[in-house]
Amino acid sequence: MGRVIIFLLSSLLIFSLTAFNYAAEDDWGFYAHRKLNRLAVFTLPPQMMPLFKAEIEYLSAHAVDPDRRRYATPHEGPRHYIDLDVYGEFPYDDLPRDWNEALVKFSAIYLLSTCDRRGGEDTMLLYFPYIHFDEEVLKEGNAYGDFEEILALNYQQFFNQRVPRNFYRAPWSYPLNEWPELDSLFPDLSGDCATIFIENHISKYGIIPYYLPILQRNLTRAIQQGDKARILRHAADIGHYIGDAHVPLHTTVNYNGQLTGQEGIHAFWESRIPELFAEDFDLIVGRAQYIENKEEFFWDVVMDTHLKVDSVLAIEQYLRDTYPQDAQICFDDRTFQTIQQPCREFALAYEREMNGMVERQMRKTIFAIGSAWYTAWVDAGQPELGDVAVVDPSHLIENDSLMRVYRRGSIYGREHLNN
Ligand SMILES: [Zn+2]
Repeated sequence: MGRVIIFLLSSLLIFSLTAFNYAAEDDWGFYAHRKLNRLAVFTLPPQMMPLFKAEIEYLSAHAVDPDRRRYATPHEGPRHYIDLDVYGEFPYDDLPRDWNEALVKFSAIYLLSTCDRRGGEDTMLLYFPYIHFDEEVLKEGNAYGDFEEILALNYQQFFNQRVPRNFYRAPWSYPLNEWPELDSLFPDLSGDCATIFIENHISKYGIIPYYLPILQRNLTRAIQQGDKARILRHAADIGHYIGDAHVPLHTTVNYNGQLTGQEGIHAFWESRIPELFAEDFDLIVGRAQYIENKEEFFWDVVMDTHLKVDSVLAIEQYLRDTYPQDAQICFDDRTFQTIQQPCREFALAYEREMNGMVERQMRKTIFAIGSAWYTAWVDAGQPELGDVAVVDPSHLIENDSLMRVYRRGSIYGREHLNN
């Protein structure tokens, strides 16, 4: 009977291992995001301090707003990650670093005809993008058509003139005759009964390196305009996404170890370790530096982060296999419940085996956030920040409503912590 109980206990434990249910909070842990924004302030030059130091509590507290926004809109999720490995092999040369090019290449094109007078409908697939992961792993991509042939039909120009370059997966539609080169291939169809549909297949795999330069421009513009509320809001926001861009598991389709039986690794790496050890980390990183080429900088960050994915996964697996089983998961009494999470010593072993990777990534993040803020200020003409006015109180209203939907609870997109 003892064995039965042990069996039951151990299966409970396995269940909770896979659930890792302690991690109600999100990426980097809310704790780490707040700390990263806070420490980034100390990388700034004295001229920026009157605003940034005075508002350090705001910058820290609002470091987590983007995660709350994921509860308010389905468009938010993909801004927090990019599953680079769905595109094949490092360095993913098939993935354009320019958003417009990427969107053109990874959107499907359909032609819908209702020209049949008897009321029939006909849908024709003209192009469907090849995505390595969809084809080779999911076996459900069904790439179709030749992109070069599509381009030869002057597709790029048609696309540039009409398709909104947004990040969301909404099929865009246009009358066939708006794309003359395609129209001429279908003499039997006329523009008022034939429609082109263009469908985004890239956003679902994340867009963070494409989104960061936009945030950088928003922050620069806010500083130019001297709008304090916007400056703070955009600064807090970009700090969050730069933080996400430094988390290796935000750059892989195996974002929670779910493809390799390592569920829970996401929160283990980015929440549990910082919460346990960040107070002991050396997070003083020196002065922020000017970023010349923003697009390149953010891509470099993401690629550098991505190179660590293998170690993150392999070392955790090694420890799962070799570390004493009964010393991996500990029980922790919190206010309303007992939760299970990786034990302190186990977490320490993980961070040590990774040669202090979490600490290094936090250092890099702080430096990158400070440099992005500093660069925006330089690009805005280095205005005095001491007495910028508070305008646009609407952002405060947004934050109130964010808190309401956040408390209400259900998240759009990935449930599993890949924020
Ligand atoms: Zn996030």
